[in-house]
Amino acid sequence: MPRRSLLSGPVQYLKGVGPRRAERLAQMNIQTGRDLLYHLPHRYEDATTVDTISSLGPGDDATVIGTVVSKGVIPTRRRLRVFRVVLRDDTGQIECSWPGQPWLDRTIARGDRLLVSGPVRFFHGRQIQPREHTVLSREGETEDAGDPRAASADGQVFPVYPATEGLTHRQVRGIVDENLDALITDLAERDSLPESWRDELTLPDLAGALETLHRPPSLDAIEPARRRLAFEELFYLQLLHARARARLRRDVEGIAFVAADELTRGLLDALPFELTGAQSRVWNEIRDEMQTPVPMNRLLQGDVGSGKTVVAALAMLKAVESGHQAVLMAPTELLAEQHMRTLTDLLEPLGPKPVLLTGSVTGKARQYALQRIESGEAAIVVGTHALIQDTVEFHSLGIAIVDEQHRFGVEQRRRLREMGGCADALVMSATPIPRSLALVLYGDLDLSVIDEMPPGRKPVVTGVRGPDSREAAFDFLRSQLEEGRQAYVVYPIIEESEVLEVRAATSMHEQLSKRFADFEVGLLHGRLKSAEKDEVMRRFLAGDVSVLVATTVIEVGIDVPNATVMFIEDAERFGLAQLHQLRGRVGRGADQSYCVAFQSGNAPSERLSAFASTNDGFRLAEEDLRIRGQGDLFGKDQSGIATLRFADLERDRRLLDEARNRARRIVADDPELSGSEHAEIRRELEERYAGREALYQIG
Ligand code: ADP
Ligand code: MG
Repeated sequence: MPRRSLLSGPVQYLKGVGPRRAERLAQMNIQTGRDLLYHLPHRYEDATTVDTISSLGPGDDATVIGTVVSKGVIPTRRRLRVFRVVLRDDTGQIECSWPGQPWLDRTIARGDRLLVSGPVRFFHGRQIQPREHTVLSREGETEDAGDPRAASADGQVFPVYPATEGLTHRQVRGIVDENLDALITDLAERDSLPESWRDELTLPDLAGALETLHRPPSLDAIEPARRRLAFEELFYLQLLHARARARLRRDVEGIAFVAADELTRGLLDALPFELTGAQSRVWNEIRDEMQTPVPMNRLLQGDVGSGKTVVAALAMLKAVESGHQAVLMAPTELLAEQHMRTLTDLLEPLGPKPVLLTGSVTGKARQYALQRIESGEAAIVVGTHALIQDTVEFHSLGIAIVDEQHRFGVEQRRRLREMGGCADALVMSATPIPRSLALVLYGDLDLSVIDEMPPGRKPVVTGVRGPDSREAAFDFLRSQLEEGRQAYVVYPIIEESEVLEVRAATSMHEQLSKRFADFEVGLLHGRLKSAEKDEVMRRFLAGDVSVLVATTVIEVGIDVPNATVMFIEDAERFGLAQLHQLRGRVGRGADQSYCVAFQSGNAPSERLSAFASTNDGFRLAEEDLRIRGQGDLFGKDQSGIATLRFADLERDRRLLDEARNRARRIVADDPELSGSEHAEIRRELEERYAGREALYQIG
């Protein structure tokens, strides 16, 4: 009988683990030997350049290792409590102090061997104020006895592991250290990446990379090893995406739309403007793909106002001129109605008469619409997402377009495909996300990007204001109203309480109704019935309401060209993407528009400064990624498939492209990975995504 491998076996049977610790490791998702091998340090302490305590002088930046000989919390006159220890090594002793961190008294004990780094200053003697500290070992902690490295960290890069309740980072390190050699031997020189690739990309082999990350010989050795794991992670995710894409193409016979170009030409000729370069490029991408029998599954990204609607209209006409129907779905009724107006204006002169189908279309009108859709007389249908999903039968649907889809999961994408049958699918998003993130989250879709604005747009002037400049801002608002313009005043969603949020908006509405008694001030929030909401919105659209006080219900897609002022209250509560969406509600007409973000303090935050500094949604998206970090962004991916542990979307952009190209190439040659040269890759893919690949069984 073959010995059960340490890698796939339960972690419990590894050295130094046992049932109790296995339970704690499980809390960190470590179930098997393999999980433990991939449980990597989250930071490293550089002990290769340890200073002797006697050599330190004020002004030095020190790294020392010593034993805690005494400790205590000392109150100061300013009621600040300071945690202090005295640290001793073979050469002498020094005080370390942590102002305002009395709780460290519970985590650091006398007798601990401590590594600290930080500046040395003179304060009743020499003193270090540690930037970082790590407990290397603890007196009487027998668990570490088997780990000789803990005793003398000096001369090493010291790995610090993610720990959990009841299991310290030192204990985790002890467990890893004791089992590392055996686990690596168990890999038996198998590698999830072909050797030729490793050579081409100058990446270390798997065993070497893992060993380096657990026991780095120097700080410099860490990055190449991380890149190796990052590439591996990106490659397998891209392979999953590429396979989903290939399966759809294999299983679904799409429609090859004819290259008649009568209606689309007609629309292009009738437009009062030329397409921008980006619109033309994107339209060509879509058109070319529509003319092949491959089922389209595409994401169209473009900033607010970049002109996605025209591109959608062209794609719809393309389907119609080939004898099929087209549907455009919006997230709200209001938006659907707006699209209905735009498309009717654009398309009616060319023949097709769009049909609207929303929850408000009822009775006879609804029957009539449904019947025309089923018979195929209605070539172009506009509606809301939900409706189209369950009740409507199309005669011959050619393309399904979804507008303003900010974030959508694998599951939603699957439903869209099922609904469309063999129809092409185009999803439009006005929330730009960095390309790297799009490839990771939506790598199974093809990507078209409109990265250019129509000419002649006046960028919205954006300011950030603190409490001191509120009055002046509202005076300015009045001057705009007096010129006949309209304005939005928006309140953020208050997560804890919709009541609070409604109250904030309501009291502002009262206040502004008094202040601007000579104008009509409207109120819009989530507690209103949808008929009431629509009523307020319609009056704002018609210009009867001058100021609209609203919670974020107005966020998506509404187009009121005469609105030139966007005030955003408590702007710190919004993400950059949301702020940018809100700003996109103004700047839609000929007049100069303004956006003011109000914050509680007078000094602008990093995020709000970034917001004010550019009107470019893609740049803001990159900035958002930088400020928030990718972890925050992945939190929204419910499938959990696209969670990256090693790759960094900013640093590893080139690796990502490399991974994607290689994944697509392999799938093009051997979609089922059945060739013997792909056996290892196939095995690894199955191991990584066991059970989850089903989510991608689309089409
Ligand atoms: P979004 O991408 O936000 O959906 P829209 O499609 O609503 O943007 O377009 C915003 C406005 O820009 C519309 O009024 C549209 O008519 C106009 N527009 C679109 N393309 C161009 C262009 N190439 N030149 C000038 N104006 C354009
Ligand atoms: Mg739009």
